[in-house]
Amino acid sequence: MQKTSILGRLEILADAAKYDASCASSGSVERNSRNGRGVGSTSGGMGICHAYAPDGRCISLLKLLLTNHCIFDCHYCVNRKSSNVERARFTPEEVVDLTLSFYRRNYIEGLFLSSGIVRSPDHTMEQIVRVARTLREVHDFRGYIHLKTIPEADPEIVAEAGIWADRVSINVELPTAASLARLAPDKNAPRIEGAMGGLHSRIVDARDARRKYRSAPRFAPAGQSTQMIVGADGTSDTQIIDKASRLYGRFGLRRVYYSAFSPIPDASAVLPLQRPPLMREHRLYQSDWLTRFYGFAPHEVSEAADANGMLPLDIDPKLAWALKFRDRFPIDLNRAPREAMLRVPGLGVKAVDALLGARRHRSIRLDDLARVTNSLRKLRPFVVTSDWRPVAMLDLADLRARLAPKPRQMELFG
Ligand code: SF4
Repeated sequence: MQKTSILGRLEILADAAKYDASCASSGSVERNSRNGRGVGSTSGGMGICHAYAPDGRCISLLKLLLTNHCIFDCHYCVNRKSSNVERARFTPEEVVDLTLSFYRRNYIEGLFLSSGIVRSPDHTMEQIVRVARTLREVHDFRGYIHLKTIPEADPEIVAEAGIWADRVSINVELPTAASLARLAPDKNAPRIEGAMGGLHSRIVDARDARRKYRSAPRFAPAGQSTQMIVGADGTSDTQIIDKASRLYGRFGLRRVYYSAFSPIPDASAVLPLQRPPLMREHRLYQSDWLTRFYGFAPHEVSEAADANGMLPLDIDPKLAWALKFRDRFPIDLNRAPREAMLRVPGLGVKAVDALLGARRHRSIRLDDLARVTNSLRKLRPFVVTSDWRPVAMLDLADLRARLAPKPRQMELFG
């Protein structure tokens, strides 16, 4: 029997949204209602509602689908046309009411809204936009809004999403056009990238206009993001790293999210039966971090991969890279530039900046490292301090085994 109560539909549509990892409320503009005007705030962190992936990971904030009906048939998606799931649908007004009442109860800090495609991409996109427009215009809602946009919809309707939302996103879904054609036959890679390009131009234009005129309208101030599913096809990590770096470069994305493929109920036969190790997703996030904050070029991160283009699972990509390029070490922490220090395994950005600050006043000793990192064992072979110099450690044949985290015994009754 079809669930008609709001609660029943909420159960279905919040559950259906949990497979999307591409939401995070970072980088928005500061808005609040502390002066008694409007509703909501983009800051403060109160009333956060989390969503969980099927494996129990906490992946993000409140997420909701407008509907899980869909006329498309993407094999990896639980909501695809041929899937045998229970269906439900909200009207835009119902989502507006739900958002406001959840917000007032402090359950959420904003709205992440996506949808299956009903009737047509244009119709669906109009409904999504209507939710955000009503929240902003009618209710003066100042909380965070992230809208998932539909690349197949009219670019003008997609662009309206950016007028009301803090962040917009379009999922590239799969790393290669061939995989997309095989697993999401209704989607089209050039069209997805074309829509991303359209949003990027508008985001850049709006930023430029606001630099000149403070009253110029905002357009998706928290930028755009995307998501790639990992492990549903045979794409290697190096191909994924390469794709992500091209997306960052071409479309100025705020984030590329990686979502380890989770076998879904009633799965299509073209999908793998098993999900990839969750650690693979974690290593891809680490590699993403290396290119965004640690000065690694994408091809350098890829050098940490094995002959099949896969990053090691037992050690992080920065350590893997350092072990391959031992001739670049040890780094003298009292003299090296910041870029070289950021290459040291176990030293994060904050730790490097703290050491740079400290060395203006005194020499860096091993004790100083112990204060800024928990990874002293990992970084000793790679650094020189005023009281430490590794002797032949970098030549040890078993250095990798010595530095890899010890395997942990699974608990029988854990
Ligand atoms: S378009 Fe594809 S991924 Fe999106 S809801 Fe429909 S079937 Fe799922």
